[in-house]
Amino acid sequence: MTTTRNGTDMAITMTFELDHPQGEPDVFVTTITCDQCGLPIERDRDGNYHWLAPNVVEDGDQFPAYFLHKTCWRPFEAEHHQPGHRWKSEALKVFTTRLSLRARETNL
Ligand SMILES: [Zn+2]
Repeated sequence: MTTTRNGTDMAITMTFELDHPQGEPDVFVTTITCDQCGLPIERDRDGNYHWLAPNVVEDGDQFPAYFLHKTCWRPFEAEHHQPGHRWKSEALKVFTTRLSLRARETNL
């Protein structure tokens, strides 16, 4: 089973930053935005990633990852819950580590 994110919502975007306190050059930075409130998750310790999986999963099943502040996950999960499914979550730091390792394995 594969599910997709709805519409045009994009939790991971590139943000162009002009204002630097130390005079650093302008940069594009990766921004992870909370799927509940729409605000950036500034520190990895402030958020988790969540996915909704059916009670029975099979090899190759894919599920969209949702990024949520630790203060926002309860209303998001309640609003998007589906019968016969369970929400799972891990620390945002785990997501970035796994993504980095996966990129290395596949030579991205
Ligand atoms: Zn939030």
